[in-house]
Amino acid sequence: MRVIVTGGAGFIGSALVRHLVIERGAEVLNIDAMTYAGNLASLRDVAGRANYRFLKADICDSAAMAQAFADFRPERVMHLAAESHVDRSITGAADFIRTNVIGTFTLLEAARSHWEGLETAAREAFRFLHVSTDEVYGSLGTEGLFAETTPYDPSSPYSASKASSDHLAKAWHRTYGLPVVVSNCSNNYGPYHFPEKLIPLTILNALAGQALPVYGKGENVRDWLYVEDHARALDLIAARGRVGETYNVGGRNERRNIDVVRRICAVLDELRPGAAPREELIAFVADRPGHDARYAIDASRLEGELGWRAQEDFDSGIAKTVAWYLDNAWWWEPLRERYAGERLGLRAG
Ligand code: NAD
Repeated sequence: MRVIVTGGAGFIGSALVRHLVIERGAEVLNIDAMTYAGNLASLRDVAGRANYRFLKADICDSAAMAQAFADFRPERVMHLAAESHVDRSITGAADFIRTNVIGTFTLLEAARSHWEGLETAAREAFRFLHVSTDEVYGSLGTEGLFAETTPYDPSSPYSASKASSDHLAKAWHRTYGLPVVVSNCSNNYGPYHFPEKLIPLTILNALAGQALPVYGKGENVRDWLYVEDHARALDLIAARGRVGETYNVGGRNERRNIDVVRRICAVLDELRPGAAPREELIAFVADRPGHDARYAIDASRLEGELGWRAQEDFDSGIAKTVAWYLDNAWWWEPLRERYAGERLGLRAG
């Protein structure tokens, strides 16, 4: 199986590349532009393998994409390259529109032109998995879950750009017949996560004895999924998902942000006892503009049709994650020098 993974130097992309190359023995071409979020250190375990290749290229570059498809002749595309941080999208949305919308369009066109040139059997087997987020559905109240049929209602420039790209992917299926499948996943966490997002930022600030910023009152709820569970889900959806369909991915692990931060403090206090409980470092800060109250996923289609189950619950996954950061300072120390946790995404005034 020859698979193009875009964004394979990012957080989820690198977990997927490790899964495909090491566990599944697939031949992988990782296409990544290496923005601030791309990190080849996350691919150290696959870098020397014969079934892994890396191409530094921008998915908005149509000539480079056409060349990559012609050279590698993929049987499957798994598209993860994106600008992914909501706060950055509030500070400046241009890169999000460019990569997430124009980049997805460019990649769909490259895939279509490659797919149209295939023999019948190869055309039928070809898959384009578009990887997206549950944030496209907007915000839930205290009850209910996002289903695949929930209407789109994105709040942030990030989620609006992802919603646009989901519509493009579906339209390329309906209009041109390209065998597209879409996945919408809840918040991920785990090893190799860039320390601008809540969980790695909290772990590293707590370890350094620095303030632990919590937006608003910390009552926003997210449905957390361990990144390796997501990688397995993506592999299954690309292999066996129904063409033209959407699959929601989530671990049934809803937590308020404040409880996530407290849990990390408790695990760290146990593994690396400090002078005072780390909870004392919690600092409530101005809320994110347009902050969605609650996300929660109904993953029953993925579980029922494809037999997927999350292997980690939040407590087991967070314990593994904290332990990983304690053992892998070589990976995150250079990133902390480049980004020390400055607040992003506040509107002026
Ligand atoms: P990430 O920010 O860690 O990684 C994104 C990767 O894409 C980086 O390696 C970056 O260099 C690359 N990239 C950015 N612009 C590019 C371009 N123009 N051309 C080629 N490569 C480019 O993101 P992530 O958290 O790993 O998310 C991966 C995908 O999963 C995204 O599409 C995101 O929307 C989606 N997703 C993320 C989450 C989450 O919790 N992180 C949840 C659901 C869905």
